[in-house]
Formats: sequence, C-alpha cells, structure tokens
Amino acid sequence: MTNNAMQTVQIIRIVNECEGIRTLFFKMEYHPIPEPGQFAMIWVPGIDEIPMSISLCDERGIWGITVKSVGDCTKKLHALRVGDYIGVRGPLGNCFPSPKDANKQIFIVGGGMGMAPLKFLAQKLSESEFKYTIIEGAKTDDTLVFVDEIYEITRDSNEFFCCTDDGSYGEKGTSVDAFKKIMNERENDIKNMIVYSCGPESMMYGLFLTCKALNIELYASLERIMRCGFGLCGLCSLDPIGLLVCKDGPIFNLEQLSKIKDFGKYKRDFTGKKVPLD
Ligand SMILES: Cc1cc2nc3c(=O)[nH]c(=O)nc-3n(C[C@H](O)[C@H](O)[C@H](O)COP(=O)(O)OP(=O)(O)OC[C@H]3O[C@@H](n4cnc5c(N)ncnc54)[C@H](O)[C@@H]3O)c2cc1C
Repeated sequence: MTNNAMQTVQIIRIVNECEGIRTLFFKMEYHPIPEPGQFAMIWVPGIDEIPMSISLCDERGIWGITVKSVGDCTKKLHALRVGDYIGVRGPLGNCFPSPKDANKQIFIVGGGMGMAPLKFLAQKLSESEFKYTIIEGAKTDDTLVFVDEIYEITRDSNEFFCCTDDGSYGEKGTSVDAFKKIMNERENDIKNMIVYSCGPESMMYGLFLTCKALNIELYASLERIMRCGFGLCGLCSLDPIGLLVCKDGPIFNLEQLSKIKDFGKYKRDFTGKKVPLD
C-alpha cells in the first residue's frame, strides 16, 4: 500500500489532553512507519479532509493525532467516539532529520499544537543514544499539552523546561525566551547545536532570527492550508521559490527558511490568496 492510499480505521482510544485538545488513537495495518515530523491527511466522512501531525506511533502500529478544535472538521473529530471510523492517508511529507553525530546538543523548542510532532520526536530520541533539551511554551498553564508524558520520557537523562506567557506555570515568557536564556547561561558550543521547532509561526520566526544570527542549525515545521497533501493543489506553496509545505516540507532548514519570503509574514487562504499571518 502506498503512503497516499486511504485506509479506513476505527478510533480505538481517545485522550483529553486539555480544554479543546484531544488525542485520537487508531491502528494502521498496511502503511509505512511514520517518522517524527510527518503528517497524515484525515478524512472525516461527510465533512472534509485535513492535515494532522502524527503525535505517536508505537511498535504495534498504533498512531495518534492530537486535534485542537478550531472549525467544522476538527469539531467533528472531537465529537467522534471509540469505534467510529475515519480515513487516513500517510505518512506524508518529510521528517525531522536525525543529528549527524551523537555529540550534538539538541534543543526541541515548541508551543501549542506544535508539541504534537515534537513529543513524537522526543519519544524517538529517548529511545536512541541522543540527549536533548525540550522547551514547551504556552499562553497559560491550562493550555500546556503532554506535560506529564514529556516529564516521563525525559525523566532518565534528558531535560524538560516549561514556560507560559503569563507565568502561571514554569518560567514566564515564550519558549524562544527560555531557549535564549538556557543558551546564554550555559555558553553552549553554538556550532555544535541543533534546534528542532514547531509551533506558532511568529514564535518560530523569532527562533529563526536568533539561529540565523548565530548560524545555528535549525529545522522548523510550517503549517499551511492544503487540500491534497501530495503536491497537486498548490495551496501550500511558499513564495518566491514555490516550495510546497506538503511535499518539500513541512520541515524546512535554515537555508530554505532564509529564502521563504512568506515565512513569519503571510499564509494563503482557501482561495489561494495571500493574507497576513494572525
Ligand atoms: C502539516 C500540518 C500539520 C498540522 N498538524 C496539526 C495538529 O497536529 N493538530 C491540530 O489541531 N492541527 C494541525 N494542523 C492544522 C489543521 O490542519 C487545521 O486546524 C484544520 O485543517 C482546521 O480544519 P477545520 O475544518 O476544523 O477548520 P476550518 O473551518 O477549515 O478553519 C478554521 C481555522 O483554521 C485555519 N486552517 C484551516 N486549515 C488549516 C491548515 N491546514 N493549516 C493551518 N491552518 C488552517 C483556517 O484558516 C481558520 O482560521 C496541521 C496543519 C498542517 C498543514
């Protein structure tokens, strides 16, 4: 079966992560094993088909998607019960590349729904020889996701920092503020650092400026409206070089991000028209 063929699956478990965010689990029988950073197109019968990051894949082929309720399709996903069916195409897109050597100082910096692929990445790194620091940011403590799970997977030999805009949990400030603080405190060997990020684009843009100024290796996952998920509709194209989020991304490196004029500024609406980012 190809990655793009649709498989119909039954929801086998649902976990409420926090207000308005829940994870749905289902078993994928025939598809390739996803890597952290990849996404799936999720079809909700009678409603729509939308992209969702894969937030978990275990050894039994159970996948998880973590859904924030924002519109028709995500609301319907929230209304589904164990035993209901959805269609899944994937894994699609590229993944966070593995560090080239084990001595790299790995930082995972994210926030909001961006923690979905980053939690999967942290889980995979915890099973390898790589050590990492993960920083999660959120507006308030009640919008932080996966906190217990991340404490659990980082417990043995990795680090986890939380921060909130209002200081209601962890340090006050954004995950980019926390990243800069940790970097300065430790006088890290900057050339040896690698940063993986996913989250609100304004946050990732701030991180990009810091990494660019210091020439730090960065991989950031972008989100755009997409219809097909494999390079046909063109809705997720990025100006001026026409990279497609679905096919060339969703993860882009520092060099690519430097060339994307839309990054941190514009997205496209459902008609393809460019509109400022929220
Ligand atoms: C690669 C990728 C991975 C994603 N991973 C996740 C995830 O793990 N969890 C999650 O909750 N959401 C994720 N999203 C965003 C998710 O696809 C949208 O929230 C969803 O399509 C909204 O559908 P809707 O019908 O509920 O809302 P709509 O009524 O279609 O839209 C509601 C709002 O969401 C915006 N929106 C719609 N589609 C997208 C889109 N594809 N990307 C960005 N904004 C959109 C609209 O502009 C509008 O402001 C991801 C998007 C991409 C491109």
